[in-house]
Amino acid sequence: MSKKQKYPTVVCDDCAKKYGGIMAKGHIATFYKAKCGCCGELKECTEPRDYRHLPQHPDYKINKKSSIVNELLLAAMLASKKK
Ligand SMILES: [Zn+2]
Repeated sequence: MSKKQKYPTVVCDDCAKKYGGIMAKGHIATFYKAKCGCCGELKECTEPRDYRHLPQHPDYKINKKSSIVNELLLAAMLASKKK
């Protein structure tokens, strides 16, 4: 475990869920083999925003300011369209 955590640019499914990320129903995320920004393993990863970000990640706050509102709005829109 590294002592200094950084908000990841890519995250695997396991870590995203661990940090409170939720994949919106019907959301299409692009997964690709990459080194996960959380666990450091080479796995199928995608961007945290595909999980509506990771609210339980220690460094979540640095990323919160600009994009989270848009992401939540988008997720809500997608969810309502799918009904
Ligand atoms: Zn991971």
